Amino acid sequence: MKILVINCGSSSLKYQILDMTNETLLCKGLVEKIGIDGSVINHTKIGQDKFVLETPMKDHKDAIAQVLAAIQDPDHGVVTSMSEIGAVGHRVVHGGEHYADSVLIDDEVMKVIEECSDLAPLHNPPNIAGIEACKALMPDTPMVAVFDTAFHQTMPPESYIYALPYEYYTKYGIRRYGFHGTSHKYVARRAAEMLNVSLEDLKLITCHLGNGASVSAIKHGKCIDTSMGFTPLEGLVMGTRSGDIDPALVTYIREKENLAPGKANEILNKKSGVLGISGVSSDFRDIEAAVEEGNERAALALKVFAHKVRFYIGAYIAEMNGCDAIVFTAGVGENDITMRELICHDLGNLGIKIDPLKNKIRGKETIISADDAKVKALLIPTNEELMIARDTFQIIKKLK
Ligand code: ADP
Repeated sequence: MKILVINCGSSSLKYQILDMTNETLLCKGLVEKIGIDGSVINHTKIGQDKFVLETPMKDHKDAIAQVLAAIQDPDHGVVTSMSEIGAVGHRVVHGGEHYADSVLIDDEVMKVIEECSDLAPLHNPPNIAGIEACKALMPDTPMVAVFDTAFHQTMPPESYIYALPYEYYTKYGIRRYGFHGTSHKYVARRAAEMLNVSLEDLKLITCHLGNGASVSAIKHGKCIDTSMGFTPLEGLVMGTRSGDIDPALVTYIREKENLAPGKANEILNKKSGVLGISGVSSDFRDIEAAVEEGNERAALALKVFAHKVRFYIGAYIAEMNGCDAIVFTAGVGENDITMRELICHDLGNLGIKIDPLKNKIRGKETIISADDAKVKALLIPTNEELMIARDTFQIIKKLK
């Protein structure tokens, strides 16, 4: 069965088609500038050069129409008709407390995703637009929603309840939800396979370190804590997000800087993180280049980032009473040799020791811990699309 995976943002859309008989990627693409001037689709059939088409797309329905045309194109397409697509798997950011797993989309599910827009106003509406567009253009194809929050629904209340008046939880659903769940789930499963141990017998700490970054504690296959919270702003220092700060700072900065409503949120989400500290960039490659040139604030940004990851690793080892393996994934986790070194430096007492030679690797599944380290350190490139396709395939198989 071939599965179309869709990940819709407000003005962009990523897609892939995977053949689930052998989990091979057939094509992938990115539509950008949906609803604005210069709309463009970049489509790549695996093994061929990229095909680029600039054409007006006023909304997500136009964008999906272009995707469907590209995947059926005689030259760079991968199917001859839409009937070859067995199902569509949609990435949906927020499923609230309703979904602890992926789900077949029906009217009831759509209602819940719409309700959850209140919790993720920037993310759920474009996800809904993508689902609606697919429904309109491929009405007979079943669709599955795969939620970023679902994997974290196994957290116990002591991990997800904030120490605020309890009625905020019951009235407004204010609690820790966690994000990047599809990635944490994917790398946890791969880690178990790589270590040849059942996931149920492992205590894992998964570090998804990309532009957005989060850490999860996964005990016996279940997430018991994660660093992102009610929104993806909490937890680690990120590219442009502050992560954990003293909450009193919001009011303090607002008064000092005489900020307009909404501005504080923008500063914490877009102007903070390693960009805010370094003043250089949100991209670790630029920051490391600046460090080479002697930029001290750039060096400090990297230290603060590593400090926070170490902080969570320590906390999660305490929460799980130990840890068998730490996994590094996403842009920084997969590629940044220096950052992995900084994070794991001098943690021998916790059983964490990486081998500097094994660590000199980028973007490849491998074990980077020293042979005698009690805690294995693993580098696992994430593959959220494959995880979405797998979940979709499992659900659709049961329907047949
Ligand atoms: P997201 O999906 O959250 O946008 P990614 O997981 O793709 O982010 O990570 C992107 C980030 O990964 C970049 O901003 C950059 O900081 C980092 N990155 C990518 N390649 C490298 C590299 N070779 N060395 C250091 N950092 C890298």
